[in-house]
Amino acid sequence: MVENLVKIKNLVVEYNTSKGILGKKETIHAVNGVSLDIKRGEILAIAGESGCGKSTLARAIIKLEDAKSGEIDFEGKNILTMDKKELKNFRTKAQMIFQNPYSSLNPKMKIIDTLREPLKINTDYKNDIIDGIVLEKAEKTGLTAEALNRFPHEFSGGQRQRIAIARALVLNPEFILADEPVSALDVSIQAQIINLLKDLKETFNLTFLLITHDMSVIKYLADRVAIMYLGEIVEIGTTEELFSAPKHPYTKALLSSVPQLTGKKEEIILQGDLPSPANLPTGCKFHTRCQYCMDICKTVPSESTQLSDTHSVRCHLYNK
Ligand code: SF4
Repeated sequence: MVENLVKIKNLVVEYNTSKGILGKKETIHAVNGVSLDIKRGEILAIAGESGCGKSTLARAIIKLEDAKSGEIDFEGKNILTMDKKELKNFRTKAQMIFQNPYSSLNPKMKIIDTLREPLKINTDYKNDIIDGIVLEKAEKTGLTAEALNRFPHEFSGGQRQRIAIARALVLNPEFILADEPVSALDVSIQAQIINLLKDLKETFNLTFLLITHDMSVIKYLADRVAIMYLGEIVEIGTTEELFSAPKHPYTKALLSSVPQLTGKKEEIILQGDLPSPANLPTGCKFHTRCQYCMDICKTVPSESTQLSDTHSVRCHLYNK
């Protein structure tokens, strides 16, 4: 059996914001009781509309966002209760790749210094060891030695994403969280970066959490997919299961918008917009937009039903 690298239990993330000119306070319920396992060596994708909570979930897993409650076990240890030393160790093993590589690179630093920095902060390696690691990771991500002496503004978006990926790799992490890693890039460059991530996963035996709204990226890269709606996982299964036999009405609607991936021609148009996470619907959170909504859906939250060892769905249509 494949070991779980990450085990998330009942994770809740909320934050407060001010709204409008009167600055009325409201609570954003971004992640609402997510439980999820990420197996060592897999690429697990989280998909859903913008605002569904997928990026907040990723940021909470890497401790860039505080969780209100729940548990996030990494190699059996809850990161929410780690002390400073344990957290420092965790941060070397888990790295994040962001959507916009430019904002994650210091414009005043040469690339070589950007890549050296995590090693200088987190290890006591001598300079020649550090430079050896930097050169190896630069080469593996397709950067030339000459490129290392340049600054971020001298590169294209695709090259900058390669730099950000090399920086994420220098500490030899086990786990990479990639938040929309290709959505800011030109379509012509996206395939190169997707293939690079796939190669690096094999070369360095990495585990990936991939956050994306792009179902074609998921179909190509991911081993499993979790569909998120208003802070909940509404369906999870292997990529094959979800693309060939989606069950949740929301998953079906998401996939119907990319007929070239599923072979199904009829697009399901969702009613209305995504409700505000500050004002969650009662019952099943999808009921305000679901064409199959029943009376029970409006008041009773839907529970998760296991359809196979790997496939589960949260919908009253499948409750026994
Ligand atoms: Fe639709 Fe009801 Fe299923 Fe929710 S529980 S997805 S409203 S059928």
